[in-house]
Amino acid sequence: MARTHEIADGIYVIATDNYRLNTGLIVGGEKAMVIDTGAGPRQGAEIFRAARRVTDLPFVVVNTHAHFDHFFGNAVFAADGTTDVWAHPKALRAMERYADRQRGFVETLEPEMAHTQGPNTEIVLPTRLLPGDGGRASFTRVDLGDRAVTLFYLGLGHTDNDVFVGVDEVLFTGDVVEQGADPAFDDSFPDMWVQTLLTVAGLDRYRVFVPGHGTPVERAFVQRQSETMRDAIDRISASTANPLAGPTTAAMYKLPYDAGVTRILLDRLEWLKSRGLESDDMVAEETPEGLTGPITRGEAL
Ligand SMILES: [Zn+2]
Repeated sequence: MARTHEIADGIYVIATDNYRLNTGLIVGGEKAMVIDTGAGPRQGAEIFRAARRVTDLPFVVVNTHAHFDHFFGNAVFAADGTTDVWAHPKALRAMERYADRQRGFVETLEPEMAHTQGPNTEIVLPTRLLPGDGGRASFTRVDLGDRAVTLFYLGLGHTDNDVFVGVDEVLFTGDVVEQGADPAFDDSFPDMWVQTLLTVAGLDRYRVFVPGHGTPVERAFVQRQSETMRDAIDRISASTANPLAGPTTAAMYKLPYDAGVTRILLDRLEWLKSRGLESDDMVAEETPEGLTGPITRGEAL
């Protein structure tokens, strides 16, 4: 069941059960913006119906990044006539290459999507992109009629293509902010993610931060998530740099994340180091095509 909450004037969070996903809905004078569409036609339709209970206006869609739970529902909105689908340029590239490979992740919850069988199971790609090549911070404004929404990219984080959506005092953060579960490091750039979180926490004009999953949080939560992540990275670095400290698995007991998440973080840090991808500049230079980690490499989550 979708649950719809109006968190500010004309600004809604549509929460659906699968993946505890949050979809944003911003109602303007002429159009309404839907932020993230779910993992397939089932969840997409649930979100679509919830949004239609709020407004009859034409929809504009934003995909906050190129992970399946945020864009596999696009086809449901395209079937309703939506043509504007916004994303980061590297999200488009990642989807073009790896969207089909991600179908395997939804076998249980969205079997039609997993097997490309039935209506609204095609991949609908973004048609509108943030400016630039994606290597630098960038922003654009989208006019919904009597209401402008700002879409922006701040740097590497949960992925290389995280888009934020700001309106009034509300910021939709995608999975850069994670509530109720440990952050997902699979495709992440942990060192830069810490920085990006600090930048987000420093954006004074926003008071409510809506994560991609979980419940909305305040600035202090974003700040804490950054500190916790910094601490985890430092502990891993210290334990891998000093073999006398014992195997990293032992040191993991002191880490803030559960063992599985810590393992993913550890592997990701080692992989980035082995590729020399340790700063925004290096990633922009070395991987102009974009980089989506385990999905790129075809590994299971
Ligand atoms: Zn994600």
